[in-house]
Amino acid sequence: MAESPVSRGADDGGASYHLLRRPRGEKSGAPEQRSAPGEATSEEQAPVRCRQCSALITSREHATEVAGSHQHTFFNPAGILFEIACFSAADGCDNEGLPTTQFTWFPGCSWRFSFCRECRSHLGWQFLSEAGTTFWGLIVDRLDG
Ligand SMILES: [Zn+2]
Repeated sequence: MAESPVSRGADDGGASYHLLRRPRGEKSGAPEQRSAPGEATSEEQAPVRCRQCSALITSREHATEVAGSHQHTFFNPAGILFEIACFSAADGCDNEGLPTTQFTWFPGCSWRFSFCRECRSHLGWQFLSEAGTTFWGLIVDRLDG
């Protein structure tokens, strides 16, 4: 009955299954779209692109500070660590869902999901403050630039 050469350990009831952690998104063949020579690139206007499909999401000139910092590190309720950077605009994002304050990382701000318009990657969250300000917290390692 030994049909599989690797049957050993495959029948442990799945106890070790949760230990298998996928290293973060080494999705093959993502094109390295660094700024082409000759393109207008002051640091201020550097494009920020979706790492998955290279769609233009925002640019460095929209980088903003929220609660005193451009970048923040948070855990979501599932214990996953996110490093996010704040932008005052992200035209390349589709923002979906009803804003909620549940588990919000920024007190007084509600949030909803932001996806890449082109490839639908989850790139981060749109936050809406009580004062009516909108900003985006985008996941650093899902962006290029
Ligand atoms: Zn994309």
